[in-house]
Amino acid sequence: MRILITGGAGFIGSHLAETCLERGDEVYIIDDLSTGTLDNIDHLKADNYKDKLFVTIDTVLNTDKMTELVGICDVVYHLAAAVGVQYIIDNPLTSIITNVGGTECVLQMCDKFKKKVLIASTSEVYGKHDHAPLVETDDSVYGPSIKSRWSYAASKLIDEFTALAYHKTKKLDLRIVRLFNTVGPRQTERYGMVLPRFVTQALKNDPITVYGDGKQTRTFTHVKNVIQGLLKLMESPQANGEVVNIGGVEEVSIFALAEKIKEKIGSSSEIKLIPYDVAYPKEFEDMQRRVPSTKKLASLIGEVPTLTLDEIIRDVISYYKSLS
Ligand code: UDP
Repeated sequence: MRILITGGAGFIGSHLAETCLERGDEVYIIDDLSTGTLDNIDHLKADNYKDKLFVTIDTVLNTDKMTELVGICDVVYHLAAAVGVQYIIDNPLTSIITNVGGTECVLQMCDKFKKKVLIASTSEVYGKHDHAPLVETDDSVYGPSIKSRWSYAASKLIDEFTALAYHKTKKLDLRIVRLFNTVGPRQTERYGMVLPRFVTQALKNDPITVYGDGKQTRTFTHVKNVIQGLLKLMESPQANGEVVNIGGVEEVSIFALAEKIKEKIGSSSEIKLIPYDVAYPKEFEDMQRRVPSTKKLASLIGEVPTLTLDEIIRDVISYYKSLS
């Protein structure tokens, strides 16, 4: 099969590319390297996949290039997006243009060539909720537009609306996946993601920077488990036209996460509480709780075995140790 992965040089995209190559697919990647990097896929070229991996450095907004790539591939995984809270806050305009315009371009091409597509969305679309678990039919609750964090949620929600409209009016075969905090090897700490940040801080015995009071919670999913979910959802006819959460179920507070990482590394780092107004610009608002319901995912693809938080942390630690 020929697979097109937009954002294939990114953290999740590069793992998807690797899994597809391992199972014998031809993989086409388009990536503008805004947050992705060729370092994520260089090993694939070296690993005997040179004749099966084709990389285009370009934006998904380039309609000529997208026409060519969508035209020759059988299915499309649309993962290209501006991601990471810090990146979104630093680049609000580019983020909106990439997320909204990019997805529209992908959908247009997939409709033109009648290609099956998976659109990556995010748990951010739920916005501010204190209840758990978050179910796909829950309301989206956002803050005002002066708080730029919500532009990410709103742009991805527009992507979802657009995709659903293509499904409804043009019968485009698609599925939308809301990814919760995905972690694993190759995720950079550069764009603010908490787990790689804490691991790198703890390995250097630097202060571990917990924002706010650290009582906010998240669940984390290993990227390997996310890839299994994406591949199975693409193959599931029942997933056509559906919005589905993919995420872990082990809820942990950010403070407890810092403690776990510190203990596992045997680090002498101090765990330092940083007030939100010091950590982020003033238009920032954090989410206090984010736990997915995975019932719909399980009903569509069966139970996905998931690595535990301890296993996930161990894997990220050994990845960062291997770099030093
Ligand atoms: N966070 C933190 N210290 C850091 C980076 C992030 O305490 O150095 C917190 C952040 O405020 C949020 C949680 O960790 O409450 C997860 O942040 P991340 O940016 O990884 O993902 P989010 O779930 O916010 O998209």
